[in-house]
Amino acid sequence: MPSITAIKGRIVYNSRGSKTIEIDVITDKKFFGRASAPSGASVGKQEAQSFPDDNPKKALELFTTNSKKFIGLDPADPKIIFDVLRSIDNTERYTKIGGAIAYALSIAAIDSAAKSLDVPIFKLLKPRKPYKFPFPLGNILGGGAHAGPGTPDIQEFLVCPIGAESIIEALEINFEMHKELGKVIESIDKRFTYGRGDEGAWAPNVNNDQALELIDKAIKNCGFSLGKEISLGIDLASSSLWNEKKKEYGYVRQGIKRNTQEQIDFANDLIKKYNLIYLEDPVHEEDFESMAAITKRNPKCLVTGDDILVTNTSRVKEAARSKSCSGAILKVNQTGTLYDSMKFADACTINNIKIITSHRSGESSDAHIAHIAIATDSKMLKSGVIGGERIAKLNELLRLREYDLIEGMADLSTA
Ligand code: PEP
Ligand code: MG
Repeated sequence: MPSITAIKGRIVYNSRGSKTIEIDVITDKKFFGRASAPSGASVGKQEAQSFPDDNPKKALELFTTNSKKFIGLDPADPKIIFDVLRSIDNTERYTKIGGAIAYALSIAAIDSAAKSLDVPIFKLLKPRKPYKFPFPLGNILGGGAHAGPGTPDIQEFLVCPIGAESIIEALEINFEMHKELGKVIESIDKRFTYGRGDEGAWAPNVNNDQALELIDKAIKNCGFSLGKEISLGIDLASSSLWNEKKKEYGYVRQGIKRNTQEQIDFANDLIKKYNLIYLEDPVHEEDFESMAAITKRNPKCLVTGDDILVTNTSRVKEAARSKSCSGAILKVNQTGTLYDSMKFADACTINNIKIITSHRSGESSDAHIAHIAIATDSKMLKSGVIGGERIAKLNELLRLREYDLIEGMADLSTA
């Protein structure tokens, strides 16, 4: 059995230049694992709290004081890491030690275990075939909490290369779409600065409707047809739009307000008009009932919960009971540890809710989520299109193709 022999944490910076936690785990004195925690901008209320009192230093101090407790543990067993962490912080949202520690520690441990056992991480988490590649779901245009004034209220306009027969082709379709969309934006706005939001998506000075028209044009320019090579998705990130006091969704940049029924109608219309295969958080994070209405009405679209589920096993069980979602975002740092996330994935699978493993808007250049997507049989990996911290995950998918030859890992054609 491999055994953790050294462990160390430090403060580093994420893609937004904000402080985060990085942890190194060494197994059997020589196998080095490392991970640093990502962070969100549109954060669900029930997510694990990144740092105690918003203070990374306090998180690191508590971790360092307790780090000896992890020495001698098996890094390949996410449950053991979870149990010891829980003996230090048993609060529901990791408010004492912080979700950033939970993330970085549990992922660094599995990273180090994989090296010591000389197997890829995905195989440690899911020992048996079949393995399938997720479709890359890429953010090409965005606004909301990820970009500045003048951009759309809608947080993410996403593309999914449904017609691709290999992961390489899939990535290339997304790159082509991103590039072409940049040209289309420039053609209507000579002062376009090539500005991009937190996730690398274009952040032009347009409203929601104009954004969709531009994307439609870019699809045509590329010679693609909607529903053939490519399909569209949207993350409405509705909790960021919701005003609890007024009970309405404020599309402030476009000057529109929608009550709950109007928001449901808007979501249904978007799915119909653009043949969306994916719609994330169409209503705010406590509205399981409206989610259920949208899910029921649109059986061909993955009506997906992000802020509403926060990678929380109890919440996804509740969503299964109320038939609120057909898709579930899996973000390890929303729930804390890798173990928490694998439990969540099991609950999704049992209830036939499709998993979409996802990055955060504030990311590291780590690639671990590519493995987590494969290990959880994720339908999609949502990790942007452009930007070093996004490409890191996509390039890892390409590297994992090399297991094709020896493992029989299915490429997209059979996924
Ligand atoms: C999202 O809302 O799906 C997302 C990736 O953004 P963030 O990380 O800001 O929550
Ligand atoms: Mg989201």
